[in-house]
Amino acid sequence: MIEGNIMHTAGLGRPDAARALEGRVAIVTGSTSGIGLAIAAALAADGASIVINGLGDHADVENLCHVLGARYDVSTRYDAADLARPGAVVDMVDRTVRAFGPVDILVSNAGIQHVAPIEEFAPERWDAILAVNLSAVFHATRAVLPEMKQRGWGRIINVASAHGLVGSAFKSAYVAAKHGVVGLTKVTALETAEFGITCNAVCPGYVWTPLVERQVAAQAAAHGISPEDVVRTVMLAEQPTKRFATVEEIAGTVRFLCSAVAASVTGAAIAVDGGWTAH
Ligand code: NAP
Repeated sequence: MIEGNIMHTAGLGRPDAARALEGRVAIVTGSTSGIGLAIAAALAADGASIVINGLGDHADVENLCHVLGARYDVSTRYDAADLARPGAVVDMVDRTVRAFGPVDILVSNAGIQHVAPIEEFAPERWDAILAVNLSAVFHATRAVLPEMKQRGWGRIINVASAHGLVGSAFKSAYVAAKHGVVGLTKVTALETAEFGITCNAVCPGYVWTPLVERQVAAQAAAHGISPEDVVRTVMLAEQPTKRFATVEEIAGTVRFLCSAVAASVTGAAIAVDGGWTAH
């Protein structure tokens, strides 16, 4: 099944002949599923060594690493760092350097969500979302920057959200964290601009991931409407294309940001949201 996911989410066919990221080392946080897995596959297709991260079943993720490595002929390793713990983030970077060498590409993608009105929003949920969605981005960035600066090359890509640019009711922690990620992205870009390092935020709208797929079914049952109506009138009300973005579209944007022609793109918050934030 994991193998099928890679084949499906990568959407990239056979490995490229010219591999732009050959010899590069990439950490993709939250890459055991969804958007992160597609990003990991895209960077592997370009030849980068990949660290997969997440809290999933260890055997499954080890197998995923094996499949990804074999398919794209790259080195892979699994790091189960819990990003809610700052020390674990730093340890993940240290382990990566020991195993593969200095980190060239950091994709901070892991994210969690909780939906509730502010007055009912559990403070522990707020803390957890801020820790994983925002603070982990800071800790990972802080840990990789010295080596990147020293070597004069680096790509830092933060997967934020359309909710890094606009708000929605009942998502206080998520929206606050994602706005924070966009701000941190700008500061990181300003501090690294003369070191051959770029830092950008990718801001997806609704993306078709297994998580969202499950939500469609659940909402269809809850509202007593068809899955198609859930998509159109509930989830995609704000997304003018009236379709989900795909994980390949997000991964393709990250791939572009890692490419040589994106060297002058830094400090940007790039919406991949079907026009949501054009409203
Ligand atoms: P997903 O399928 O739920 O993937 C989330 C990933 O984060 C998983 O690999 C998960 O690992 C990992 N993760 C969660 N908590 C972690 C922790 N404490 N430590 C380490 N890893 C952790 O979600 P997704 O839809 O692909 O979302 C990926 C990113 O895109 C998130 O930042 C999200 O906010 C952003 N985004 C998504 C959408 C969308 O519509 N899907 C839209 C805008 C932005 P395990 O599952 O192995 O635990």
